[in-house]
Amino acid sequence: MVNKTNSQVLQQESNPNTLSISQLRKDFKDRVIAPKDAEYDKARTLFYGGMDRHPAVIIRVKDVDDVVRVVNLARETGLPLAIRSGGHSVAGHSIADNGIVLDLAGMRDLQIDVRGQTAWAEAGLTAGEYTTAAAAHGLATGFGDTGSVGIGGLTTGGGVGYLVRKYGLTIDDLLAAEVVTADGQVLRVDADTNPDLFWAIRGGGGNFGVVTRFQFRLHKVDSVYGGMLFLPATADVIASFMSLAESAPEELSAIANVMPAPPMPFLPAEQHGKLVIMAMLVYVGDAAEGERVIAPFRALATPLVDMVKPMQYPEIYPPEQDEYHPVAASHTMFVDRIDRSVAEVILTHLRSSTAMMAVAQLRPLGGAMARVPVDATAFAHRKSRIMVNVAALYQNPEDKATYETWVADFAEALKQSDGGAYVNFLGEDGAVRIRAAYPGRTWDRLREIKARYDPDNLFRLNQNIPPTNGK
Ligand SMILES: Cc1cc2nc3c(=O)[nH]c(=O)nc-3n(C[C@H](O)[C@H](O)[C@H](O)COP(=O)(O)OP(=O)(O)OC[C@H]3O[C@@H](n4cnc5c(N)ncnc54)[C@H](O)[C@@H]3O)c2cc1C
Repeated sequence: MVNKTNSQVLQQESNPNTLSISQLRKDFKDRVIAPKDAEYDKARTLFYGGMDRHPAVIIRVKDVDDVVRVVNLARETGLPLAIRSGGHSVAGHSIADNGIVLDLAGMRDLQIDVRGQTAWAEAGLTAGEYTTAAAAHGLATGFGDTGSVGIGGLTTGGGVGYLVRKYGLTIDDLLAAEVVTADGQVLRVDADTNPDLFWAIRGGGGNFGVVTRFQFRLHKVDSVYGGMLFLPATADVIASFMSLAESAPEELSAIANVMPAPPMPFLPAEQHGKLVIMAMLVYVGDAAEGERVIAPFRALATPLVDMVKPMQYPEIYPPEQDEYHPVAASHTMFVDRIDRSVAEVILTHLRSSTAMMAVAQLRPLGGAMARVPVDATAFAHRKSRIMVNVAALYQNPEDKATYETWVADFAEALKQSDGGAYVNFLGEDGAVRIRAAYPGRTWDRLREIKARYDPDNLFRLNQNIPPTNGK
């Protein structure tokens, strides 16, 4: 079966440089999904809704040889190539309209060296799957705040999560990786082997090749003291919360979501829709000590709901609904402080929102993440104090402009001296914002490495770093 609408190139069975869908089915067997296949619509769905992209073919690779073949296929046919691991791209980069999707979801092998406290993980694993498997040995590597996010995209962008202040970014625990480059080579990268590429994949996103396997350091993390704490969101409570979180011991990482209270069954009905802080707290260490550290947060106001307790670390990733595909407008940024006046700005903007859900997510940074030198990895925001993501979730695609304007105005009102951006939370924000993700010398260095490993910009469906040769 040849797809007649999506790609001229894929139809040309007589051209030795191209392949047809029927040929792909011979080569990749049941791992090929084409537009007329029953699984096609599900396979082209990403976490975020509102993106209706139609790839010419999706290939579910099973091993590194498959990855090489798909990379070669994309290079030889000239078709756009999208790399998909967990499918949580905020910009929707992991599905290529009229192109090839290299889908790593079938590559989920995980080899844990318990004594050595390291693990080799294939890129198709999700943060939740890895975390659950590692926890069986009382071990953990820090990923993000959501279990279904893929380790492929999360790690190559940096990885900011519940262990960030204690153990740093995900890339700070990356020891080595296996990368398929644009010319189809399989390279091992680590501090001594291809160190330039190892530097670039730690924050440079999917620009440099397909990472098939990551080797991570594991930490002894058994039970933690953590969970969800709901507080009423007044300016004083927000400012004090942030001040406490920033000065807390590094064992504590926190995320404060300031938002109208969602109609969750455990929240009193009279609170639904009122502005609250939905905080996620994780203290890595002794429960009694964790309780002592978290006591001042509890004392900021009478908690609306308090679910902070001793728990196994994977419990921080609750089950998710497969069918949840929100449409969102969002903006990511860093700020230096959230004092009372900044908190007022947050509350004013949230009150003005007509979105189904509006949120200002505040993530205090610092600790281990900040001790890594700025130029040690392609993630260069080591000195940034607080990451802020503002977002509006909505249903009707026609409202896109309204919510994008609301988000842009909100972000503008929050702007302080730190002009950086975290690449993994960028949407279709454009070149200026990609540049903000890679400030100063980081940008030049990334472009040079890009020219060395991907001079024709084969890997361009991403927050793109053009090679120095200008392609
Ligand atoms: C609900 C939600 C919560 C999030 N929470 C956090 C968080 O707490 N912390 C955080 O740091 N980030 C977070 N993110 C952002 C997340 O890290 C990025 O969206 C990331 O790109 C998702 O990775 P993925 O593999 O799921 O995505 P995909 O959509 O599969 O991939 C996204 C992009 O990453 C690149 N990529 C993916 N896999 C590979 C690979 N194997 N080799 C090379 N390049 C690859 C490609 O350029 C691809 O287009 C969150 C995102 C969502 C939607």
